[in-house]
Amino acid sequence: MGEIDWCRAIVVELNELKVAETVVHWMVVNFADADGARASIGEGTILGVTPSECLEATGIAAVARERHVPVLDLDALPARKTPIPNGVVLDHLMISAAVAEFDYIVSLPVMKTHMHCRVSLGLKNMKGCLRGREKVRLHQLPPCPAFPGVKPLDLAIADMAAVLAPHLALMDGSTGMQGLVASAGSQLHPGLMVASDSVLAAGAVAAVLMGYEPRDIAHLRLAAHRAFGVIDCAQMEIDPPSWREWITPFELPPQKSNFEYRDVHVLDRESCSACLSTMLMFLQRHYAELGDYLPLTFAIGKGHATLPERAFCLGKCRAKAAAGQHVFMKGCPPVASDILRAVVADQCHLSRRETQD
Ligand code: SF4
Repeated sequence: MGEIDWCRAIVVELNELKVAETVVHWMVVNFADADGARASIGEGTILGVTPSECLEATGIAAVARERHVPVLDLDALPARKTPIPNGVVLDHLMISAAVAEFDYIVSLPVMKTHMHCRVSLGLKNMKGCLRGREKVRLHQLPPCPAFPGVKPLDLAIADMAAVLAPHLALMDGSTGMQGLVASAGSQLHPGLMVASDSVLAAGAVAAVLMGYEPRDIAHLRLAAHRAFGVIDCAQMEIDPPSWREWITPFELPPQKSNFEYRDVHVLDRESCSACLSTMLMFLQRHYAELGDYLPLTFAIGKGHATLPERAFCLGKCRAKAAAGQHVFMKGCPPVASDILRAVVADQCHLSRRETQD
């Protein structure tokens, strides 16, 4: 990408407009009906859910079928090793080879907050183009000594911008998600969409509309610092000029997973969003049933050197380290109801041992 010092963004108020449906229609009219051109919808998901489940649940698959637009499972298709020029924490990425077959890429995320990155918008959304577990690798990178205090995930997303910037970013704010992450957050309805041919400009405007300062979003700041785009709204032409009237503050993602669950400790090191989301979903659904078993400690992510003796280890990442020493729950991510079963079974096992002693 060349150096960018000015850009344009548009904010549109939505009235019952279904953004994904409208974008599919627009793609068909502008691309698929042109001679020799084809439009497709690509999806790559968080672990624990497949792209087709996701597209069916959101209704996008139905619209695609109706308009004869192919749907691509970017997790299942072959990937290509793509070098990252001047990467800070990445020297390459395994990107779905299908992405390179298209001349024009649109990033279409829902506006939402994110526990690891504060917000997840057009640039972070491009992680969906990475092959399956390549997405997890970005969550498990070691700290970078040259950037103390900066999460390696944010540095990796800024590296990714060098090779995976979309041509158009459309932030769907018809319905947004606030709080932790998609499955454990709550909905809100700003009723707007942000569009720009600069993914950083769109991200910055969307961040302001969500109540955040773009420079506080580390991956946006880092990508802008590397001249991948502009995040200073004063350097943009934003239409309409009164766009700030539509600011709808999104609730901040919690910085600690055990913030509202007394006597539950979640030790999180280098987990990906799927395990974190499962953990929070488990607590939301089952905390009331845990009374007899508290206090409880859970460990997620592969970055723990040591753990307290009675910690429950969750997910494939902890399999080796847990072996023989901790109660381990398989899955990638594990299933919330299995976690409850494991806690109850462990307590029964302990009670039996105490009776025998
Ligand atoms: S076990 Fe959990 S943290 Fe590890 S990759 Fe799977 S979902 Fe992510």
